Amino acid sequence: MTAFTEIYQQLDWQQLAIQINSKSAQEVEKAICSDRPSLNDFMALISPAAYPYLEVIAQKAQKLTRQRFGNTVGLYVPLYLSNLCANNCTYCGFSIHNPIKRKTLHETEIIAECEALRSIGYNNLLLVTCEHPSKVGMNYLRQYIPLIKKYFSTLLMEVQPLTITEYRELKEIGLEGVLVYQETYHQPTYQQHHLRGKKQDFFWRLETPDRLGQAGIDKIGLGALIGLSDNWRVDYYLVANHLSYLQKNIGKAVTLFLSPEYALV
Ligand code: SF4
Repeated sequence: MTAFTEIYQQLDWQQLAIQINSKSAQEVEKAICSDRPSLNDFMALISPAAYPYLEVIAQKAQKLTRQRFGNTVGLYVPLYLSNLCANNCTYCGFSIHNPIKRKTLHETEIIAECEALRSIGYNNLLLVTCEHPSKVGMNYLRQYIPLIKKYFSTLLMEVQPLTITEYRELKEIGLEGVLVYQETYHQPTYQQHHLRGKKQDFFWRLETPDRLGQAGIDKIGLGALIGLSDNWRVDYYLVANHLSYLQKNIGKAVTLFLSPEYALV
C-alpha cells in the first residue's frame, strides 16, 4: 500500500462535500488573496460561494500564468497508435464489446504520421493507446518508442498503467511524461463504470502516480472525468490533494499538471 492510498482511505467523500459546500465568501476572498493557497483554500475556490468571484479568480489565474510562463502556449499533439481495448468502461466508445473497426498502427504508418506531424510544426507528442496489454503492451512500446522519439523533443504517453520496472525501461528509451486519469476518486462510482479488465482495479490506478515517481518519470499528469461522479467539486479537490501529495513526496524536479476531462454518462 502506498502513502497516497493511506491518505485517500482516511478521507470521507460526504464529509468533503459538506466542507466544500459550507465555505463562505470571506474564505473565498482569503483564498484569492493568498500567495500560497492551501488545500483548504482550494476548497473555497471551487465552492458554490466562489461563483460571484469567478472573474476575479480568472484574472488572478491569468496573472500567475503570465508571471510563470510569459505569453507562451505549449502545444502537444496526440498520436493514436491503437484503438484495441480489453476493458469495458461504460462511457467509452472504444470498449471491448463495441463493434467498431479496430486498428493498430504498424511501423510504416507510424513513420508517416510522425513525418506529417513534424511537417506542420509539432514537436511535442502524446502517444495514446487504449488498454490492451497483450497486443499493445510493452513489446509494442519498446519496439516503437525509440523510432518515434527521433522525430520529437518531448514524448508523453497515455496508455494502460504499468509497473515501476516498465516505466523505468521506457524512460531509458525516450519517455518523459505520463498522463493517467483516475476518472473518478469516488470508488463506488468507479466500480460501477469499469466493468472489465485491469482497469477495474481502482487502487492499481490510484497508485500509478506513485509508481511513476519511483521510476523517475519527469512529467506526471492527473485528472478526473468531470460528470462521472455526482460531485465534480469533491473529485477535483481529491485531484488537488493527490497533486499536493506527489509534490511533497516525489520531489520538485517533477512537473505535475492537471487535465480536466468531461464525461457524458
Ligand atoms: S480503457 Fe480507456 S479506451 Fe478502453 S474502454 Fe476504458 S476508457 Fe475506453
